[in-house]
Amino acid sequence: MNTLTFPILRLLADGKFHSGEAIAQHFKVSRTTVWSAIQHAQTLGIEIFSVRGRGYKLPNAIEFLNKDEVLRAVGEQRAWFNLEILDEVPSTNTYLMQQSAKGAAHVTCIAAQVQTSGKGRRGRTWVSHLGASLTFSLLWRFQCGAAALSGLSLAVGVALIRALNHLGVQQAQLKWPNDVLVLDEHKQGKKLAGILIELQGDMEGPSAAVIGVGVNLNLPHHVLHAIDQPATDLAQHASINQSELLGVLLKHLADILSQFEQHGFTSLRDEWTRYHAYHQQPVRMLMPDGRNVQGVVNNVAEDGILLVDTALGLQRFSAGEISLRSA
Ligand code: ATP
Repeated sequence: MNTLTFPILRLLADGKFHSGEAIAQHFKVSRTTVWSAIQHAQTLGIEIFSVRGRGYKLPNAIEFLNKDEVLRAVGEQRAWFNLEILDEVPSTNTYLMQQSAKGAAHVTCIAAQVQTSGKGRRGRTWVSHLGASLTFSLLWRFQCGAAALSGLSLAVGVALIRALNHLGVQQAQLKWPNDVLVLDEHKQGKKLAGILIELQGDMEGPSAAVIGVGVNLNLPHHVLHAIDQPATDLAQHASINQSELLGVLLKHLADILSQFEQHGFTSLRDEWTRYHAYHQQPVRMLMPDGRNVQGVVNNVAEDGILLVDTALGLQRFSAGEISLRSA
């Protein structure tokens, strides 16, 4: 942590050059202090140009998340939320799981300007960059036990699609269990957003879910192409302010989670199926032992299990260990 790093980054957010001297004067510190704050930003993976005689500059102008704008975009349900925006955090999910264990309130949301060690499923990594990614986690407490939450990760996907549709992004679809992707002209999915849900509590209840969401806003090309599966970002499909995006996502998450609490995934299944990019399409299921099972997606069951017609008949796949790919 360096307490000056983010104030300086806010100054640099205009994408213009700022001399080390002007920054030092602005914050009433020495140029060496400015330099070490810039060094810290670079350790967070933030690219800053440093040009002798001109100063420091970000590659382009960026927007920071703004709490008031987020809450405005949430609308009527804004009072439900306990929203905290952190400058830097290794993982919003890990942080919120810790806060949850210490008793954090129902509907706490932690968003980060930059997440330095984002997590995917099964120890995988989620790539994000300052001003180029939205990363946040939402804590939702349930009276029921974790055993009753089997369709939750699919339900969350519905909330994301509703929010994106509301913001004019009609191309986004889901890939079971809950990746958000956009299909290219060859029907190949490019991942736009990911969801990671971690649970706390007993199988019998009560329980708590920490719902982590990462959305690509406008990742630099080299970052997008370095991701080890096809990926895309919102900038290629729409122009959306990240605070508004977070607010609209939270509003739709609150709607869906309330509905899920009362009626389970059953009430959302038809809508989920409409959004599924591979509904009734040929797919490959990647099994934990390395095998591939080929088939055609039949449907999704009321507990979120994927039903696939295979050479051996109708098979059921549960999300934990299995990944779906287009055939
Ligand atoms: P599954 O189909 O099982 O969900 P997945 O490979 O999509 O598999 P996740 O855990 O959901 O796995 O997401 C992590 C993976 O997503 C990473 O291993 C990487 O391939 C990809 N990834 C990481 N960062 C990004 C990003 N910013 N945008 C798109 N994809 C990403």
